[in-house]
Amino acid sequence: MTEKSTDFGYQRIPEDDKSRRVGDVFKGVASRYDLMNDLMSAGLHRLWKRYAVAQSLVGSGSRVLDVAGGTGDLARLFAHRVGAHGQVILTDVNASMLAIGRDRLLDDGLVMPIVRCDGEKLPFPVEHFDCVCVAFGLRNMTRKEAALAEMHRVLKAGGRLLVLEFSRVWRPLAPLYDAYSFQVLPRLGKLVANDAEAYRYLAESIRVHPDQEQLKQMMEDAGFERVDYFNLAAGVVALHRGYRL
Ligand code: SAM
Repeated sequence: MTEKSTDFGYQRIPEDDKSRRVGDVFKGVASRYDLMNDLMSAGLHRLWKRYAVAQSLVGSGSRVLDVAGGTGDLARLFAHRVGAHGQVILTDVNASMLAIGRDRLLDDGLVMPIVRCDGEKLPFPVEHFDCVCVAFGLRNMTRKEAALAEMHRVLKAGGRLLVLEFSRVWRPLAPLYDAYSFQVLPRLGKLVANDAEAYRYLAESIRVHPDQEQLKQMMEDAGFERVDYFNLAAGVVALHRGYRL
């Protein structure tokens, strides 16, 4: 039987190796992850995340699941929205990222359940959440279709999935964006996080990730309805939103 392969940036690797390789990337950069996000995006990632939360239609009392939530940026924003009568659960497969997330949330006076789990096998019951979000996480998953199906399964009828992810930049800007991604990012990664490879992986993984229309189709295939997307920063990032009806 031939082994199934998948992408790890521009490399093809056995499917079973991807989660370990991605795990190594985030274990390596966890302590510098937030600083790198601010530097790489000149702080823009904060606005993209705020925009995602604004489009979620989440209000007081809602139940929200943050998948691949890492250091908890979205979970924190959602916690303020849902208030004392709602609930936000922060999840990620990587213990190093979650440990930083937990400390940051506690520093902000926020206590919430934190669950280490794989986005492709969510340990939550069917029709449980009003909103599921995944920011810059889907790209790193091995079986994206399985992950989308899981996110669909745990949403209540009327619930929303938000996928915030790097996408396809407006074509005239592509040469500039490529130069930044492949020349500047790995150097910045080396300087700040002592890890050029992790940020080369970032640049490559963005290029092999489905574009706006492909991801929309994947969400529809997983059962989501009324799927739409919003380009941010000329398509550097896109926010996809779909409903379980
Ligand atoms: N959502 C956070 C944010 O926007 O800052 C973190 C995004 S970070 C780029 C990607 C995260 O995806 C990492 O924390 C990584 O551990 C997580 N991840 C990768 N594969 C995963 C999987 N199969 N299940 C859950 N989390 C995963």
